[in-house]
Amino acid sequence: MASAEKTTENTELRYAVDSSICAGHGRCYALAPKDFDADDIGYGQALDQVHPASDRKVMEGIAIACPEEAISIVPAHQ
Ligand code: SF4
Repeated sequence: MASAEKTTENTELRYAVDSSICAGHGRCYALAPKDFDADDIGYGQALDQVHPASDRKVMEGIAIACPEEAISIVPAHQ
């Protein structure tokens, strides 16, 4: 789900995948191969890519594309 956890308008962002609900549809790494990869059996994994806060809308579009709502947008530096 495209959630926002305590971010400000200047907070750098990254994706996170909840592996407990990912079903391996592969939309994430098909749509954003610089941000996601597949594990050995096709489940999505978020790569360690940091985005500026200005990317939030684009990131939300990717997160919404996940049918399982397994993708979150989180602060890059926690
Ligand atoms: S789109 Fe969602 S369910 Fe599919 S592999 Fe990516 S995180 Fe998992």
